[in-house]
Amino acid sequence: MVETDAARVLVAGGGPAGMATALFLIENGVPVLLLERGEGPHADPRAATYHPPTLEMLERSGVTAELHERGIVARSWQYRDRRAGLVAEFDLQILEGDTRYPYRLQCEQHKLVAMMERRVAASPLATILHGVEVVAVTQHAAGVEVAVMHADGRSGRFGGRWLVGADGGRSVVRKSQDIDFRGFTWPERFLVITTTFDFEPLGFAYSSYTMDPEEWTATFKVPGDGSGIWRCVFPTRPEENDDELLDFERAKARLAAFVPESREGRVIHTNLYAVHQRVAATYRRGRVLLAGDAAHVNNPLGGMGLNFGIHDAHSLAECLGRIWRGESDALLDRYDRQRRDVAERYLQAQTISNKKTLEERDPQRRTQQQAEMRAMAADTAAARRYLLRTSMIEGLRAAAMIA
Ligand SMILES: Cc1cc2nc3c(=O)[nH]c(=O)nc-3n(C[C@H](O)[C@H](O)[C@H](O)COP(=O)(O)OP(=O)(O)OC[C@H]3O[C@@H](n4cnc5c(N)ncnc54)[C@H](O)[C@@H]3O)c2cc1C
Repeated sequence: MVETDAARVLVAGGGPAGMATALFLIENGVPVLLLERGEGPHADPRAATYHPPTLEMLERSGVTAELHERGIVARSWQYRDRRAGLVAEFDLQILEGDTRYPYRLQCEQHKLVAMMERRVAASPLATILHGVEVVAVTQHAAGVEVAVMHADGRSGRFGGRWLVGADGGRSVVRKSQDIDFRGFTWPERFLVITTTFDFEPLGFAYSSYTMDPEEWTATFKVPGDGSGIWRCVFPTRPEENDDELLDFERAKARLAAFVPESREGRVIHTNLYAVHQRVAATYRRGRVLLAGDAAHVNNPLGGMGLNFGIHDAHSLAECLGRIWRGESDALLDRYDRQRRDVAERYLQAQTISNKKTLEERDPQRRTQQQAEMRAMAADTAAARRYLLRTSMIEGLRAAAMIA
């Protein structure tokens, strides 16, 4: 049976980008049907950092206020050296004149998704269906239709005026439109070790990046059950075996080689994942749009991927709201130009540069980079320029300039 109702937007995927799209569509007065394959938000450790523009976008719904109640405010972040310790600390308060939220807020992504979902589900403009997987997409002049598979094996169809593919890096929606996903995959995977050990008394900021030519580490604090836990991200060698990498005792030894005191803590989770740098060749094919990981994937250093997906959602929902009220759908071509351009110039460029900085092997180049960082952190104007870029404010300003 085809359940058609042209007067709505379909969203495939209820992760951070899809749920944010639904939330912002409601704010723009647009009816939405969200189809999510899973039964609820994925609770495994993924992204956990929210940058200032994201907090501004989530303000109206009250999500930002709730994130402040449940999350951790990181007022500064550090570059460190595995042997020499602190290299430079960047104080985000410098951005006071640029944003209402001059800091990073840290809270697990599944909690954010649940906060957004509660608000979407409460709106008469929205319907969320769980356990519904989009398997195929058909477009026609006035709308778009998706074929779905329900968790109980039933098949079905839903119709709408537009479809937003927010169904993650392996997006079925993107593939259904034959859209290339250009870029590359790093040879090494990343290992995330979650520990109860508290790095703060050792001088670590709530978000720190430790350089090392052999084994760099990113450390950051997330709320956990409320008392606070730390996530440590390490590179792995291609030949290392999964079972060994994920083993808690070996993870503890890896942490202890980084910070010997960490033996006092307990390893509570390990997680291994492949890392890609890719951008879709277009974010629009007729009535089908892409947002979030379906449109771009990147390494997690700098905590940008999820934020970027929410920025896509904000821009796309605003365009769809204006189209709903009678404006031209050429706005969606501009969405494609703006968001794709900054995905290449800011998201990809910055995250690749962050990784290269952390793993720099040339000792001279490393010394020079560290000297430049110290100088930048000590110079307010230079630090502000750098933080505008790394806090994702500059990219949004650049997108707004694209006609
Ligand atoms: C293991 C892991 C660790 C990560 N760590 C970090 C990190 O430390 N920092 C960082 O910035 N980023 C990290 N990321 C990336 C970050 O989690 C993503 O950028 C973010 O989740 C993207 O949100 P999204 O909504 O676009 O996609 P997703 O979170 O992938 O959500 C897609 C949703 O769509 C649903 N779905 C998929 N296919 C279909 C379909 N056919 N029909 C219906 N529903 C479908 C899925 O069930 C899922 O809920 C990590 C990712 C992974 C996998």
